[in-house]
Amino acid sequence: MADKGKRKSGFDRYEAEEAPEIEELPEVIEAETTEPAELAEEARYFVDPQWYEERGLAFNIVAQARLCTSCSTKLGTFVEERYPVIDPKTKRVSFEYRRVAYAANPLPIIRDCCSRARDYITPDTPLLEAIFRVFLANGNQPMTIATIREHLLTYLPEMAALRSDYPAALLEKLIRADVAYGLKEHRLPVTV
Ligand SMILES: [Zn+2]
Repeated sequence: MADKGKRKSGFDRYEAEEAPEIEELPEVIEAETTEPAELAEEARYFVDPQWYEERGLAFNIVAQARLCTSCSTKLGTFVEERYPVIDPKTKRVSFEYRRVAYAANPLPIIRDCCSRARDYITPDTPLLEAIFRVFLANGNQPMTIATIREHLLTYLPEMAALRSDYPAALLEKLIRADVAYGLKEHRLPVTV
């Protein structure tokens, strides 16, 4: 012990008193300072279903309101859904059908059909509504501002110039100020 203390004070005299702590600290400090910085750079946003739940709303119902005319006429009907069943004795998989409400999960329908309609996002669509629809069209996967912007521009190529190309800062400000669509920064679950 005496030897160790001596070596330390000789090695780094001004930190000698703190030396035992410093031995453990660097890893912790590194983990805490680099990760949030990386996340901040790559902030991703999504429509937070929990935001709807907390307000007694259902995200799926709100999303259903964005179905195209043809799909929305099927609301209230039922569809047969195929699902796998495993026989507990033989372990063999067979398929059965059950009746589910049409567009109970509207996102695959919006992605494959409604978001491809010409009037899904138009120059008359308010920008925040257009951003919301971009999320619906992409299965609500978390996206960076740059990706959201790319999608918007594919819908509104002719408007891009008029709206000064949707600067990323403007989009970010709008999304962060949103109080109507449940747009939130998507935070990765913290693993300890
Ligand atoms: Zn449709």
